[in-house]
Amino acid sequence: MPELPEVETVARDLQRAVAGARITDAEVRWDRTIANPQPPTLFVDQLRDAEISRVGRRAKSVLIHLGDGRVMTVALRMTGALIVAPPGTPDDPYVRVVFRLADGRELRYRDVRKFGRIGLWEGGGLRVRNAAKRGRATRERRAPYRVGDVFGRHGPEPLTRSFSSARFAERLRGRSARLKTLLLDQSFVAGVGNIYADEALWRARLHPLRAADTLTHEEVRRLHRAVRTVLRQAIANRGSSFSDYVGADGEPGANAERLSVYRRSGEPCLRCGRAIERIVVGQRSTHFCPRCQRLPAGRGR
Ligand SMILES: [Zn+2]
Repeated sequence: MPELPEVETVARDLQRAVAGARITDAEVRWDRTIANPQPPTLFVDQLRDAEISRVGRRAKSVLIHLGDGRVMTVALRMTGALIVAPPGTPDDPYVRVVFRLADGRELRYRDVRKFGRIGLWEGGGLRVRNAAKRGRATRERRAPYRVGDVFGRHGPEPLTRSFSSARFAERLRGRSARLKTLLLDQSFVAGVGNIYADEALWRARLHPLRAADTLTHEEVRRLHRAVRTVLRQAIANRGSSFSDYVGADGEPGANAERLSVYRRSGEPCLRCGRAIERIVVGQRSTHFCPRCQRLPAGRGR
């Protein structure tokens, strides 16, 4: 499943490839891919002659900003991909939505398992809210539904300047959840999934079952730095491909072979040589080194 680095890679590819392009027409081949507006024929009508002004990312969604301020969100979920197809590229049975561009290219949304969703929303409200402000934000909500509301329950972006070690410490305070569970919680921090949660915990030398509120200041700083480092490195390597993930150029990312623990159970730890172990935390496979990532006595739960 694409996480922050994979979605960021797709967004950056699209920014280079289609910013400034005009959508002349769209074709929806699988109605349930369209989350908003309904019915999908309305989605198609509302996109005709829209100009793509820029492409970005929030959490695990690609944001396609249109010239008039509206925003199209693409949640890739399990197997979704956005691919720019030059004229003449053969069609593909897994393409669910086609955006035809004025220059003859197509922006194709391909999704084998069909879990991904595309929405078209009014602009606005996209600032990153603190969880504490959530209640107020809900009360302030007014029609029409804006793109910011789609992400109203998401936590901060871990790679922004404002996501400091102090802010991270503040968010961890009083949280008794296990570190692995908390890192996967999108309302705690946006964009981290199973791969990068395991990688960050290994890098920070913290056991995945550690209770968040037992971390020392030094451990909090280590985890904060580790989360940002593993995400940045993965972006530099264009993301980790295990099955379906590809960039907008259709090519897989190169980061999978550079992972330290994820899906390496039984293989030697790159730091100490001990065999990596796999446990299940909250129904998710979790990989860690039993020597580098010890659970202090009486500290985990
Ligand atoms: Zn180790």
